[in-house]
Amino acid sequence: MNRREFLKTAAAIAALTALGGCKKEATVSSKKQGTMTYREFPGIGAKISLLGYGLMRMPKTGQGPEIDKEKGFALIDKALKGGINYFDTAWFYHDGLSEVFAGEALSRYPRESYNLASKLPMRLLESGEQAEEIFNKQLEKCKVDYFDFYLLHNLNGPLWEKTLANGAVDFAMTLKGKGKIKRLGFSFHGDNKDFPKILDYTKWDFVQIQANYFDWDNFSKEQYEEATKRGIPVVVMEPLRGGELANNLRPAAVEVLEEAKPGSTPAQWAFRFIASKPNVLTVLSGMTKMEHLEENLATFSPFEPITPEEEQVLAKALQIYKEDGKVPCTGCRYCTPCPAGVAIPDIFKLYNEYRTKMRKRDAVREYENLGKDAMATACVECGACLKKCPQSIDIPKELKRIHKELKG
Ligand code: SF4
Ligand code: SF4
Repeated sequence: MNRREFLKTAAAIAALTALGGCKKEATVSSKKQGTMTYREFPGIGAKISLLGYGLMRMPKTGQGPEIDKEKGFALIDKALKGGINYFDTAWFYHDGLSEVFAGEALSRYPRESYNLASKLPMRLLESGEQAEEIFNKQLEKCKVDYFDFYLLHNLNGPLWEKTLANGAVDFAMTLKGKGKIKRLGFSFHGDNKDFPKILDYTKWDFVQIQANYFDWDNFSKEQYEEATKRGIPVVVMEPLRGGELANNLRPAAVEVLEEAKPGSTPAQWAFRFIASKPNVLTVLSGMTKMEHLEENLATFSPFEPITPEEEQVLAKALQIYKEDGKVPCTGCRYCTPCPAGVAIPDIFKLYNEYRTKMRKRDAVREYENLGKDAMATACVECGACLKKCPQSIDIPKELKRIHKELKG
């Protein structure tokens, strides 16, 4: 698609947007890529691509945060041509360079052809004046004079108390009144008990939550339903649980999926599960490589909702995945004390909780809280524990695997 064709597609999107009140889900033609699926909600007032681009994992030039501009631009060009019109960045992504990249990459296109979301870094924020300073800097970095979507980043119970004290919501509402923010929301990473009080505090236009088929029954479903019953559209983050649901399914689980729908990848199953929820506005994916982007564009162009029968298949695969990855440790503690000080049963217990219900960030934090001397890396492979374990667990090997999965 050349620039002229692109502008025609953008105009088509704008025309469909103007048809407010038409059916909830629509598609806009994009000849080379198939037809991207869009969602529309009355309070949002724009058609948003069901696949959104998360700019937190762009290709890098090396070990540091610097983004490979050439590769990054190619991805953005492809995404826009494929019909993606929602791009999500934040103050913290790529140590502040994601917003700069977003500005450089997207400013090559007409402003009305993309929706840009960024976030106020609540962890940093101490005062309203500081918020204003950060916000103005974000506009400058992103080369825009307004954000289509703006979020208070990463709220949870304790941070919410701080947010109320520093006046960030009032500040954001003022910016919305001035047209500097078109739609205001927040992203949430806390306990479900704290979610409703934040939802009820003001009139949010949208909310961003972690949701995927693994976490659905643990916490995502409840958050989704709380937002839905208040009429607040949901932006989904972590649809693949940090890539885990695409890359780490056990072979037996993959087989179940493959048998039910040959050729469909684990990532496609995961996207289809979460994007089928009707109150989802867009599903964010941090696409680092062109092949990820191409596969995801195919999944959403057009989007095929998951069927009840397929949900059963997915539930079966999930069960296998959870069971298959667990360490069969009974917690008998016969292996203790480890001469090197490794907290063997505690690590296995923590890991099994992570496999079945715990969020990765919580698991990693608890693992780190054990201290370096008790972590798996302290194992010197003396083999003393192997003789004591009635479950015949290859303890040193499992410790290595767990460390790699949590910290790799
Ligand atoms: S093999 Fe590792 S975990 Fe087992 S007793 Fe020796 S040092 Fe401890
Ligand atoms: S001896 Fe084996 S089953 Fe018992 S706590 Fe240690 S690792 Fe777990």
